[in-house]
Amino acid sequence: MLVENPLTDTFARAFTYLRLSLTEKCNFSCSYCLPDGSECHSMNDDLTLIEIRRLVTAFALLGTQKIRLTGGEPSLRRDLCEIIKTCKGVTGINSVALTTNGFRLEKDVATWRTAGLDSFNVSIDSLRPEMFQLITGSGKLRSILAGLDQAQELGFNQLKINTVLLREQNARELDDFLAFIKTRKITLRFIELMRTGDNADFFSRQHLSGASIEQRLLSEGWAQKIRSINAGPAKEFIHPDYIGSIGLIMPYSKNFCSDCNRLRVSSKAELYLCLFAEQHQSLRHLLQCDDPEPVIHFLRAALLHKTAGHELAQLHTGSTRHLAMIGG
Ligand code: SAM
Ligand code: SF4
Repeated sequence: MLVENPLTDTFARAFTYLRLSLTEKCNFSCSYCLPDGSECHSMNDDLTLIEIRRLVTAFALLGTQKIRLTGGEPSLRRDLCEIIKTCKGVTGINSVALTTNGFRLEKDVATWRTAGLDSFNVSIDSLRPEMFQLITGSGKLRSILAGLDQAQELGFNQLKINTVLLREQNARELDDFLAFIKTRKITLRFIELMRTGDNADFFSRQHLSGASIEQRLLSEGWAQKIRSINAGPAKEFIHPDYIGSIGLIMPYSKNFCSDCNRLRVSSKAELYLCLFAEQHQSLRHLLQCDDPEPVIHFLRAALLHKTAGHELAQLHTGSTRHLAMIGG
């Protein structure tokens, strides 16, 4: 679809990617995110299917091509297949992706595929069941890995694993992770732990810079892939002896925000201009009719206030208490 006047900000960045949270609720209790479990019990306030269609239609009219469904845990939504189908059916949307903790992967991945899901990222912080349980509070590792194998057989391209780097919990497992992707067409992305409103103490104990992994990869014959124009925030590394690849997401590195192409909407219909923004604005009232113009007007006006980057290095985490609020 040719968009005459796509959504840009005052730094000439174009926004073609929407990360849409479907619920804040989660059934895992990851040590870095919701160590005491989800405080969200009701899903009654979450965006409805009709509101999602209206929202995605307005974004697509402004040039959005890719939607990522996230959460909390998006697969807790009983209407997830309908949501995937609806997003995929909006003119201009050419990719629908999902970020999931994988607890329904083995059961549902085939139906997600049939509904039109193009790709997904699954969070796997350890390949050792005991450590996985310690980090996430879940005993589902084997089932998640079985779901991942199934997804490969179903022909999913661009399968990604997200692994949050944790100094004392999984940093010694690099060899296991490398062995895992040696024979699998998967990108395993190490994400540097981000400081959020709720995890300051945990962050100071567990944060590990991705630079140490980068050095090790380079010394062992891995090479950085040339970045494509639409590349995400990860630096990607490949090796001739490995089918899979490694990504490093280092939000504390210089220029991390310069290619930002994404906006976020929470499950309560709030627009976040940045993961670590101080403020967010609700646009729910604009989703009560089919006319996309008011939403388009709202988004163009809001984008004038998007800042050049986050201030994580100054310990400003904005109003984001944990990433389950908005989906990472
Ligand atoms: N529940 C789903 C999952 O875990 O994949 C989707 C939501 S989760 C908030 C999205 C991603 O954010 C996950 O890969 C998770 O590991 C990551 N994440 C959560 N808190 C984080 C933090 N403080 N620092 C870095 N990554 C974090
Ligand atoms: Fe839940 Fe995902 Fe947060 Fe883990 S990272 S607690 S799975 S929202």
